[in-house]
Amino acid sequence: MRNQSEKTNAVQLYHQDGKPTGVYYCSVCRGTRPNEESAAECCAPRHCKDCKSLLEERWQTSCYPCSRARANQREQDAWDAVEKVSVEEATEMVYVDGDGSISPLDDVLGGVDDGEYEDGGAHLHVYCCVEEKLQLDAENILDHALENWFEGSYDHIGSYAVRDLQTLLDKWCEGRLTQWVQNPKLGVRIT
Ligand SMILES: [Zn+2]
Ligand SMILES: [Zn+2]
Repeated sequence: MRNQSEKTNAVQLYHQDGKPTGVYYCSVCRGTRPNEESAAECCAPRHCKDCKSLLEERWQTSCYPCSRARANQREQDAWDAVEKVSVEEATEMVYVDGDGSISPLDDVLGGVDDGEYEDGGAHLHVYCCVEEKLQLDAENILDHALENWFEGSYDHIGSYAVRDLQTLLDKWCEGRLTQWVQNPKLGVRIT
């Protein structure tokens, strides 16, 4: 067990003739590592990069409260930077940041009145929505359909025919299906 100091789990491996290999293993999980540093870090306790508290999960780089605080800060920064409109100017459907839901604006306002949100909704970040319409792309569809066809098959169809197909697809999609998605450029002043 030579070369193992008190603080580290890194143990160097030696050749039969006693020469060091430069390869280390972690004395906890017994996995070999290419150098002393990675063997020492392997099963050593890890600490939050922000508050230095001991981490529960090995894949974490910061603890849950610090991760949450960072996410909140990102949300807040995005909110501070965005243009805002009044409730009257907002779209009927809105995106509520944090829970990521698309809801009717009236429901969100009702929730604020009912005290569903902390601070009377002052920290609620609500965004306008835009209507996204279903679109089908002729080139994409043909690319997919011709995947296993002979080389150059797409060119045999010709650009006029592709355009014809696009016209048909556009017509078929007209009024077919829409959904509301967040407009990340427009916030709604709730309170
Ligand atoms: Zn280990
Ligand atoms: Zn932390």
